[in-house]
Amino acid sequence: MNIKKRKITGLNLLNQDRAPLERRAVQFLFVLVILFIGIQFIRFVNSYADPSATVLVHRPAGVEAFLPISALVALKSWLYTGIFDSIHPAGLVILLLAMALSLVFKRSFCSWICPIGTLSEGLAIIGRKLLGRNFVLPRWLDYPLRSLKYILLSFFMAFILIFMDGPSAYGFLQTPYNMIADVKMLDFFKNLTVTGMTVITVLALLSAVIQNFWCRYLCPYGALMSLLSIFSPWKIRRNGDTCISCQKCTAVCPNQLKVAKAKDILSPECSGCLNCVKSCPVKGTLEFSSPPFSSKRLAFDPKRAAIILVVTWFMVVGVAKFTGHWESSIPPEMYRILIPQAEQFNH
Ligand code: SF4
Ligand code: SF4
Repeated sequence: MNIKKRKITGLNLLNQDRAPLERRAVQFLFVLVILFIGIQFIRFVNSYADPSATVLVHRPAGVEAFLPISALVALKSWLYTGIFDSIHPAGLVILLLAMALSLVFKRSFCSWICPIGTLSEGLAIIGRKLLGRNFVLPRWLDYPLRSLKYILLSFFMAFILIFMDGPSAYGFLQTPYNMIADVKMLDFFKNLTVTGMTVITVLALLSAVIQNFWCRYLCPYGALMSLLSIFSPWKIRRNGDTCISCQKCTAVCPNQLKVAKAKDILSPECSGCLNCVKSCPVKGTLEFSSPPFSSKRLAFDPKRAAIILVVTWFMVVGVAKFTGHWESSIPPEMYRILIPQAEQFNH
């Protein structure tokens, strides 16, 4: 082997893009999809808000990806009543899909698909370019802050899964408020208050300075994926026999995991981003792989991971569409009534 042992620190890798190209391509694809959904949704709302409109725009069901609380209530209702939510079925499909991906491929939803994760990464790159580096919080502050996302998740879980009974969950899904929760969300962003704008600006600034600020400390959806990812059979695994201890993997880990020292990365913070796999200079030393199945491991390099994630995602969406678990059952006449008076539905 002609690779020299050398010490590489995070500072050496400062201005490199740490992500595999394949992951960037998948992130770009999902950002495009979200932009298309966003534009289509605005057109849909405008067409229904205008009583004189003669052409009504089709509602893109994918917008329900932004209704995670409604999806959690729908999950509770489904488990209790056996009825799959027909008001925002795509939201429930997306939640189940993200959970299933986390159970198998760590938190790959967060690092490959979620547009908020992508935005957060983009802000961190801008921060690195402007300031020369991203900052890491000291451990005494990092640990308690990391628990915030789990506290937020516990709050939502306790309210929905424990304090809300099955009939109440089903009843909530049928309320006008839930039916147009997506329209109200759009209204919130269209009419941002000073407080809302301040919170978003502060979060954006913190994400530029501290890598993954939102995902690492505050996102309850990410916390749920983290907990599920503990059971994932696919993990980052390091072969100590061929490792040259160059530390590149540790330097590029956005979640500050000590990859170069671990055998298997068991941490729920690992987002399956594969930055470390891409950076490892010794082929076959660092892999995103299963435990050995009949003495052979099944490893996914960035290319394979990208193909599997994209194919799985679009296949599940296709099956959901085909089987009638994607489009909302809310009829256009109901939207005609609800959307113009959206402001009056507050709960
Ligand atoms: S251990 Fe590797 S895959 Fe996991 S978060 Fe760190 S860089 Fe990404
Ligand atoms: S696993 Fe690869 S990148 Fe990490 S220290 Fe060993 S040789 Fe370097």
